[in-house]
Amino acid sequence: MKTSAAPHNLLFQQLADILPQDAILTAKEDLHPYECDGLTAYRHLPLAVVLPTTTEQVQLIVKTCSRLKIPVVARGAGTGLSGGALPHEGGIVLSLARFKQIMEIDTVNLHARVQPGVRNLAISQAVDHLGLFYAPDPSSQIACSIGGNVAENSGGVHCLKYGLTVHNILEIKVVTIDGELLIIGNDRLDTPGYDLLALMTGSEGMLGIVVEVLVKLTVKPETVQVLMADFAMVNDAGDAVAAIISKGIIPAGLEMMDNPALRAAEDFIHAGYPIDANAILLCELDGTEDEVSEQVARVSAILKEYRAGTIHIAKTAAERARLWAGRKAAFPAVGRISPDYYCMDGTIPRKHLAHVLQKINDFSQTYALGVANVFHAGDGNLHPLILYDANRPGELEKAERFGADILALCVKVGGSITGEHGVGHEKLDSMCVQFGEAELEVFHAVKRAFDPDELLNPGKAVPTLHRCAELGAMHVHHGQLSHPELPRF
Ligand SMILES: Cc1cc2nc3c(=O)[nH]c(=O)nc-3n(C[C@H](O)[C@H](O)[C@H](O)COP(=O)(O)OP(=O)(O)OC[C@H]3O[C@@H](n4cnc5c(N)ncnc54)[C@H](O)[C@@H]3O)c2cc1C
Repeated sequence: MKTSAAPHNLLFQQLADILPQDAILTAKEDLHPYECDGLTAYRHLPLAVVLPTTTEQVQLIVKTCSRLKIPVVARGAGTGLSGGALPHEGGIVLSLARFKQIMEIDTVNLHARVQPGVRNLAISQAVDHLGLFYAPDPSSQIACSIGGNVAENSGGVHCLKYGLTVHNILEIKVVTIDGELLIIGNDRLDTPGYDLLALMTGSEGMLGIVVEVLVKLTVKPETVQVLMADFAMVNDAGDAVAAIISKGIIPAGLEMMDNPALRAAEDFIHAGYPIDANAILLCELDGTEDEVSEQVARVSAILKEYRAGTIHIAKTAAERARLWAGRKAAFPAVGRISPDYYCMDGTIPRKHLAHVLQKINDFSQTYALGVANVFHAGDGNLHPLILYDANRPGELEKAERFGADILALCVKVGGSITGEHGVGHEKLDSMCVQFGEAELEVFHAVKRAFDPDELLNPGKAVPTLHRCAELGAMHVHHGQLSHPELPRF
């Protein structure tokens, strides 16, 4: 991507015509809070951060940047874990943090129109008294924005039953790199033409800036039960997950934590987890009273068949909330037991859960780095947290190689290099393992169609063919581990 010689002064002048002074940050101390997202290992300072409050301002900002060939990185709450909102050193960060309004709640058609900076949890809180909720619930939901959720196609505990972000939004308004406003999707069953809503969802800020979202609201189930089962063998817990779903039971959530993860969470939240278990499963079942009691019996029988120790059923809503609080706080909890952790995000077919977890442990020995596993087991969506110390020379690089090997293993068993955190800056090289030249070329063609000068979040999510060729990854595509000396699947 080319940028013009020194258009910065011109940029600052033109931004000042669009925005009030307090909406343009250029001083170093003001830029530092924006230097990274949740993946703190990578940091850059942008030229400026802009904080618009209206769609018209976003259109004008983007138009200006397009004219001056200045890169634009959209940012929601900055909780992303793949470096998606990592600034471009020669560009601006366009924060949607001031787009905080819930514009409309429609209890007949069951949807809400919201601005992109609205926090995920704020939507469910706003409709709670109406007996409704917004189903996708990333563990970061207290902070992450709906715009970021759309850009990452985020998931969460309840996505096993209720679907990802893409299944829970109806329409978005998007500003293109030319400053045009597109309305994509609608609240009807289907729309003619290409499915641009699906294309935009998960496009990581590379095709347009989301300025409005129409989300689906879901009616709260009549009854909810949460079971916690402990296991002496991690493999049994993995196999139990595959067995539950293969019997046609779709829990509202089915999550697994191994011993390091559940210990860390228990120390932090005091959720009531059995700290001597090698793994626990948390299983939420919802529906009518009859459905739920029948499913509790069936799931309990399967858990026993797979050698669960104690099967505990939460007795009150407060206890259910506590069991989930431990799971949702597992990442920060692991942050308390290790100077740094590197959160991986890969997806595998459920039937390989037990085997892949064993391999991750083997890698942990090979790299001499600890690992804690906490994940959306029902979706086969792994989150190994690799423990390292960035102050020890070489440890970050070792953690990165360990992570890359986990992702290559996911591809090898028929899975993918991301479940919900996106590719961002982090997983560019792993994209060369997942896809061949032909698929990558199609991705680049889509990018060119929306953003010919590559100004929207440049250098993220889709690696250049040159990069993949340099890595030598093209000929090992479809699942070769990055380090030949490592054990093979
Ligand atoms: C503790 C913790 C737990 C997490 N748990 C989960 C989880 O369970 N499930 C899950 O899916 N994720 C999880 N995440 C990751 C993260 O919270 C999600 O990816 C979330 O959707 C990011 O939202 P954000 O508002 O913080 O976006 P940001 O981090 O600000 O941005 C993410 C990406 O979206 C783009 N973007 C942001 N806003 C817009 C917009 N309006 N228009 C266009 N592009 C935009 C950015 O350019 C960037 O590429 C977790 C993160 C943390 C720190």
